[in-house]
Amino acid sequence: MDCDFDILIVGGGMVGATMAYALSPLPLRIGVIEAVPFKSDNQPSYDDRAIALAYGSARIFEAMGLWHKFADKVSPIKKIHVSDRGHFGVARIDSVEEKVDGLGYVIENRVVGAVLAKALPKLENVELICPATVTDVEMDTNQARLSIESDGQQMQLTSKLVIAADGGNSVVRQLLEIPTRSWDYGQAAVIANVTPERHHQGVAYERFTDTGPVAMLPNSYAETGDPNRCSLVWTVRSGDEDRVLGLSDDDFLAELQTRFGYRLGVLEKVGRRNAYPLKLVRAKQQVRPRLALIGNAAHTLHPIAGQGFNLGQRDVAVLADVLAAAIAKGEDIGATEVMQRYSDWRHWDHKKVIGFTDGLARLFSNPLAPVALARNIGLFTVDVVPPLKRLLSRQTMGLAGKLPRLAMGLPLQG
Ligand SMILES: Cc1cc2nc3c(=O)[nH]c(=O)nc-3n(C[C@H](O)[C@H](O)[C@H](O)COP(=O)(O)OP(=O)(O)OC[C@H]3O[C@@H](n4cnc5c(N)ncnc54)[C@H](O)[C@@H]3O)c2cc1C
Repeated sequence: MDCDFDILIVGGGMVGATMAYALSPLPLRIGVIEAVPFKSDNQPSYDDRAIALAYGSARIFEAMGLWHKFADKVSPIKKIHVSDRGHFGVARIDSVEEKVDGLGYVIENRVVGAVLAKALPKLENVELICPATVTDVEMDTNQARLSIESDGQQMQLTSKLVIAADGGNSVVRQLLEIPTRSWDYGQAAVIANVTPERHHQGVAYERFTDTGPVAMLPNSYAETGDPNRCSLVWTVRSGDEDRVLGLSDDDFLAELQTRFGYRLGVLEKVGRRNAYPLKLVRAKQQVRPRLALIGNAAHTLHPIAGQGFNLGQRDVAVLADVLAAAIAKGEDIGATEVMQRYSDWRHWDHKKVIGFTDGLARLFSNPLAPVALARNIGLFTVDVVPPLKRLLSRQTMGLAGKLPRLAMGLPLQG
């Protein structure tokens, strides 16, 4: 049976648009359905956030031929410094020990969006259907059928495979009644750009406090004109975010200073602020026949270790690898066996990263003295035991486990 598309990707956010670009060298007709135009101020994926892109994710972008478009708009992370406010434990990871120029790179979501918005329309086999919202999904043996609303018009499109990349509240996941496991952390992340007195020297700071972690990421590429600029992710208790957002700049900086300390000197300037409620959501099924879930639609994490997009980026690389192999063997790309191969490959990475971030989020928000002592011994041990440190570095850099071709820096085919 002939379908309108081979693949329909629902959601053209950070992960969905990257998926479309990654698949574009393959002989496929790909549609990307996105609700909100890329350059809109209301675009929920390409917003004011800056994320820590792991070394492995940068390598995936490089293998896709996109990295050079980002390279002058990122700040390399030379070192990671993890500490626990008011306690002795510190863990440090250094790019020199890992023999790389950056353990990762800080990049703004808006920058990623601008690059993808330019790159996607140039791809002959990718059609961007935007603004358009998926309102219904039906699966049968031979095809998937999506109902779409665009400019008040209803239409239906069919494909051999649907990739759901429609974020943490995935409509596709809900319409297909895929159950989830979820946990509300009772926390919200307040983000803003902050300029401290001292230059960050490429150090990403993660400081645990009794209300949750405070991260300061180096984010001062040349265009910003502000060499000391850092991106802040400040975790506060749910319900306190409105108060924190509403503080005057001086009061905001004073309160932040007491939580973060003086490692970067006096905090001098703060920009626009936003807040995000923090939850863990994991779909209990990652695939069904003719369906794969990727990115936040499959797993939404606490931002504590900067792993959410990186995990989604590895979903992209593995799914592209599995689909390229299926096409080479003449298989049906939406077949149960093909989907299962993808799900099996992703299983351990998902389990490990979700367990790691969830464990950290709970452990470091626990004020009990014995727990604080145990976690500080943990930080100290990681810092002084080289094999443990190496394990943490590989995980943080996104280089652990069986890597797909793109994550090894190789093109999808050849
Ligand atoms: C404060 C904070 C800091 C973070 N820091 C990091 C970090 O340092 N490192 C890291 O790796 N990750 C980080 N993350 C996580 C990262 O931002 C997310 O994992 C990533 O943005 C998810 O991208 P996505 O494309 O899967 O989903 P989304 O960004 O949610 O995109 C989903 C897209 O689908 C579209 N859509 C939704 N429903 C429909 C529909 N029915 N029809 C059509 N389109 C639809 C939406 O408009 C949107 O464009 C952070 C997150 C937060 C909140």
